[in-house]
Amino acid sequence: MKTTDLGPARMDRRRFLTMGATAAAAGATGCVTNPVTGKSEFSLIGPDDEVRMDRTNAPHQISADYGVLLHPAVRSYVESVGQSLVAVCHRPGMPYSFRPVYASYINAYAFPGGTIVASRGILLELENEAQLAGLLGHEIGHVCARHTAKRMTSAIVTQLAVAGIAAAIEAKGHGNTAAVVAGLGAVAGGALLARYSRDDERQADALGMEYMVKAGHNAEGMVGLMDILLRQEKHKPSALEMMFATHPLSRERRDTAAERARTTWAAGAGLPLGRERFMDATAPLRPMKPIVAAVQRGDESMARGNPGEAKPAYAAALAAGPEDYEALLKMAACCIALGRPGEGRPYAQRARAAHPDEPQALHVLGMIALLTRQPDQAHEHFVEYERRLPGNPATVFLDGLALERMGRRQEAARRYLEFLQSGAQGDEANHARHRLIEWGVIQPAAK
Ligand SMILES: [Zn+2]
Repeated sequence: MKTTDLGPARMDRRRFLTMGATAAAAGATGCVTNPVTGKSEFSLIGPDDEVRMDRTNAPHQISADYGVLLHPAVRSYVESVGQSLVAVCHRPGMPYSFRPVYASYINAYAFPGGTIVASRGILLELENEAQLAGLLGHEIGHVCARHTAKRMTSAIVTQLAVAGIAAAIEAKGHGNTAAVVAGLGAVAGGALLARYSRDDERQADALGMEYMVKAGHNAEGMVGLMDILLRQEKHKPSALEMMFATHPLSRERRDTAAERARTTWAAGAGLPLGRERFMDATAPLRPMKPIVAAVQRGDESMARGNPGEAKPAYAAALAAGPEDYEALLKMAACCIALGRPGEGRPYAQRARAAHPDEPQALHVLGMIALLTRQPDQAHEHFVEYERRLPGNPATVFLDGLALERMGRRQEAARRYLEFLQSGAQGDEANHARHRLIEWGVIQPAAK
């Protein structure tokens, strides 16, 4: 996925340090006891900050991943397997929740307060409950060992979430447009998520195995999970890119898990894998398999900057699932990337009807309205989006743009100021700054 270009890898050291300093100034500093090691460690981010970061950021990432599946049975199953692991973990007091989302790419991730997400893409690859327990146990391991707090992701969040939106507005057909189109470019690229180190991964694997066995799952599930991912990497490298970006996976991790299953957790060898239970509980997902496969093909074309090639793939996804929320929004974004935003509108409208509580469709509708010179409609969509999901700087900027085009300069100026105050940088921030200077709201910075 091209949007990962917006990720931390592209940040220079100076910028990273500046942001670290900002986080230090904003957050409480001091010593925190690591729940896993029991040792006291210096941390810029305390448990309250972890929960706050989670509550602020997780809803945006979940929306970027097309929201939680509308299948209560699948949701409660994933939640119950997750909670069985929470009961035996090092940090059971965190407000955990386990959410299966519509995204077709193969990924799972954890926010530091305990919001744990798995895409339907990865759920469809799993074969049994022990593998699901391995996946969720690994994510719980990251939460328990406070890995995100250590990486100080919060510092990166504000800066990256707002990068790279302007291109989608002015340069239609740009390769990056699709991911950026919902105003969630960097978010969709996983910029809100921690990039864990290999040591963090090893620790999360060890913890995940410990929790899954203590909760009564066969440790072989972790080995099976890694086998699946390593095998898939050969066939679907781009669908797995985010998974590997956030959780670097290796042959070595797989072999270590196999070794532990034979030694440390040998006593659990007779525990159930739970294949039937898993297949029964996730049965509503099976019909989505052709949708997910087609969306993955479309995403691959989009990532290569080829929306013309992506369109028939998304059409195939919609042939398999005409009211599939993700496929509809991907098709709308594809139309925008092709420079035909008006063609995308009916898809975005159908998406809105298919998943009325999920706000991303409103953002796409707002973007389409902007591109088809209907700023008043765009403004309405952005206001409605913000009412449901406040705190997306991209929306603030786009609403400013809509108001500017409606000639409501004072309100536009207020939005642009708000946007700049969120710490925005890049082309959008330049646009906002230029307008504010032009309108006499702020003074040009002294050289
Ligand atoms: Zn991990």
